[in-house]
Amino acid sequence: MSVMDIFETMDYGPAPEAASTALSWLKAHQPFNLFINNQWVKPTSGQYLDSINPATGKVLTQVASANSADVDTAVAAASSTFAQWSATPGHVRARYLYALARQIQKHARLFAVLEALDNGKSIRETRDLDIPLVARHFYYHAGWAQLMASELPGYEPVGVVGQIIPWNFPLLMLAWKIAPAIAMGNTVVLKPARYTPLTALKFAEIVQEIGLPPGVINILTGEASQVGEALVRHPGVKKIAFTGSTDVGRSIRRTTAGSGKKLSLELGGKSPFIVFDDADLDSVVEGVVDAIWFNQGQVCCAGSRLLVQENIADRLHAKLLARMERLRVGDPLDKAIDIGAIVSSAQLQEIQRLVAQGIEEGAQVWQPSWACPTDGYFFPPTLFTNVSPASTIAQVEIFGPVLVAMTFRTPTEAVELANNTRYGLAASIWSENINLALDIAPKIKAGSVWINCTNMFDASSGFGGYRESGFGREGGKEGLYEYLRPAWEVEQAAFSTSTFTEIATGEEHSSSNGASENGATHEENDEPDASFPSGTLPAIDRTPKLFIAGKQARPDSGYSRSVFDSAGRLIGEVGEGNRKDIRNAVEAAHKASGWASGTTHNRAQILYYMAENLSVREDEFARRIVQQTGRSYADARNEVQATLSRLFSYAAWTDKYEGSVHRPPLRGVVLALPEAIGVIGIACPDEYPLLGFISLLAPAIAMGNAVVVVPSQVAPLSATDCYQVFETSDLPSGVVNIVTGERDALSQVLAEHDDVDAMWYFGTADGSQRVELASAGNMKRTWVNYGRPRAWLDTQQGEGQEFLRASTQVKNIWVPYGE
Ligand code: NAD
Ligand code: MN
Repeated sequence: MSVMDIFETMDYGPAPEAASTALSWLKAHQPFNLFINNQWVKPTSGQYLDSINPATGKVLTQVASANSADVDTAVAAASSTFAQWSATPGHVRARYLYALARQIQKHARLFAVLEALDNGKSIRETRDLDIPLVARHFYYHAGWAQLMASELPGYEPVGVVGQIIPWNFPLLMLAWKIAPAIAMGNTVVLKPARYTPLTALKFAEIVQEIGLPPGVINILTGEASQVGEALVRHPGVKKIAFTGSTDVGRSIRRTTAGSGKKLSLELGGKSPFIVFDDADLDSVVEGVVDAIWFNQGQVCCAGSRLLVQENIADRLHAKLLARMERLRVGDPLDKAIDIGAIVSSAQLQEIQRLVAQGIEEGAQVWQPSWACPTDGYFFPPTLFTNVSPASTIAQVEIFGPVLVAMTFRTPTEAVELANNTRYGLAASIWSENINLALDIAPKIKAGSVWINCTNMFDASSGFGGYRESGFGREGGKEGLYEYLRPAWEVEQAAFSTSTFTEIATGEEHSSSNGASENGATHEENDEPDASFPSGTLPAIDRTPKLFIAGKQARPDSGYSRSVFDSAGRLIGEVGEGNRKDIRNAVEAAHKASGWASGTTHNRAQILYYMAENLSVREDEFARRIVQQTGRSYADARNEVQATLSRLFSYAAWTDKYEGSVHRPPLRGVVLALPEAIGVIGIACPDEYPLLGFISLLAPAIAMGNAVVVVPSQVAPLSATDCYQVFETSDLPSGVVNIVTGERDALSQVLAEHDDVDAMWYFGTADGSQRVELASAGNMKRTWVNYGRPRAWLDTQQGEGQEFLRASTQVKNIWVPYGE
């Protein structure tokens, strides 16, 4: 085609990027081996796998196929380097991260071409988006390595981390995983996706070049069933960071349950793209292009559900069809194409299958009139209209360039439709009315909300899901905690579990030295007269029931459970809660959702009020502790005092745990808001019947959650005595619900419940494992103690930001500005 022809037709001429440098780099290195200890090591299996160019279907090169023996070797390498790397000063680690960022920039073009060849994504995107974001991620985290000692005191790296990444943003996902991990002093074994290993191998070469200490980063290519599963099961791996499908994420949750491995999961999505009738429709059209046709739609946070206000739907659809007609699908290395190749033939077939199903289910399909190239794996931009919200294509993640459109009438309907999904990764909202957009943003259950923009990413702003899109964040300060644990936990792990009883009962344990009838001991000076009036009248029975929806409720079972003192004498009875009671409590908790949207000032006032009402009955609460535990009165008094202080702490935090405003490289701001998680199930520790109960309940409700609490199984009366405190403190009904009974059985019901958003469990190792296992159903967040003790009286262990982080999830709202 001559320039003249092009001029005549006003058609695009080809603008190819040369692949020669990348191809000769591949040729010089093949076959690629495993990267362990900064060396290229032959795989134990002796086997190699093809890596394919999806735009041609042709083999690019061969990479090693690792197996579990190689995983052992790599984890051993990472383990032996960990002590040294984690003790390396932050400034030194910062220099290494900085060097990685610089080296990536120096080889940016090679990376961009390799990524386009291996994945099929367009060079325009790899060059302008993937690779710059990769470099930015290393720069940003070089900063956190530098600041770790001053900004994250009391935290330590977790150890060797196993990282498993998908094929849709191969190098970017590598950066999101590796940069925070090594910045915080961890060492890494990373598995790239089967289809897209090549940029990770070029990255390994850079690791060698900059002289990163051997063993800090190890990269193993191979099959999921070999490398992935072995990493997940390896006892030497202390954390798994995974990005991929929800099904695999769920299986990893189950496999790691009870192991004590930290886990973060970035999973699938079906994100809404909401258009109000006052939106700028030409911007909306370009937004849709970026939302669902960017990266061939193979984007976990793709705006794959177009929700349009009914009165503009036809106009927008017409504009979209016109724009689709002009999109160009083809050679990823052509700088003038919009949509490249689908990553593999299997993925292409899956897209074709779902599109066929959409047609069968009665939706109307729209595609451009032109045809896609036939060698390689291509699929045209596709729009479905007349889609019913319950149909497969409206619910299932297609992971291709396929958009499904639905309509709404009112903002309330838009929110309902947007949240009508099991996922919660992202959303975008289009309206020229910023008041409306900012009102909608908090109502959408998603980790990222983009206002009048979409698919924006930056290292400063955390990314991650709600609900079945997974848990944990990558990027931002919040992302660092995924690679850290409290220092006290690390120190404590060195002790034997026998310290458990000591911490649990306190030093002043005195069950053996003559408890009086009400349990109080007599040798304490500050002890008031302990004798009860011993009149002739029988005491009026006071059997606490369950506490549900602000009222005392009889247990469904009709049974009571006996409570004994430390000497084994019956001191009371509480309700025997069961599955039905938990269901009622969860329902009541859901109805209390107004609690989260109320003011923080109001929530703080109520926590102070609870402290006030508790303090009036300090003596009575202390005696109750003595009675149940046999501890000394002074010790019990101390627990009540600590409880009052704890309520004050969270009343204080309520209007101070506030999030931040990020300034990523755009004209605008990102509002990082810690939001309540929703309904949290809480199983309390047996020790410290009052303090343990309040230490968990208070941060959860302070942050706006509603809770269903199972109090200490052996000493539940301190919690049931609080009913009146709650009733007199203006706590709205349903915010706190209490179900007494068998801790592990009730925890199991809570952990399995699909309307419970998070589950905290402080009990045995076995119970912790069962909670983590059961949580996989709706991928609820869990916080368990693996049977390990916690010093509840100690303010470092018993309160603070660890509890607040567990009570919240960060939502990042992107607000660009300017005309
Ligand atoms: P996948 O879950 O099959 O694979 C992801 C990675 O996990 C790959 O490296 C794979 O080899 C490995 N893997 C697979 N089975 C494993 C197992 N049993 N144990 C250990 N590792 C295993 O997903 P995919 O097909 O590679 O990627 C597409 C999916 O990933 C989509 O559903 C998309 O939603 C999701 N995704 C999510 C995000 C996010 O940030 N949330 C980003 C990209 C992709
Ligand atoms: Mn490939």
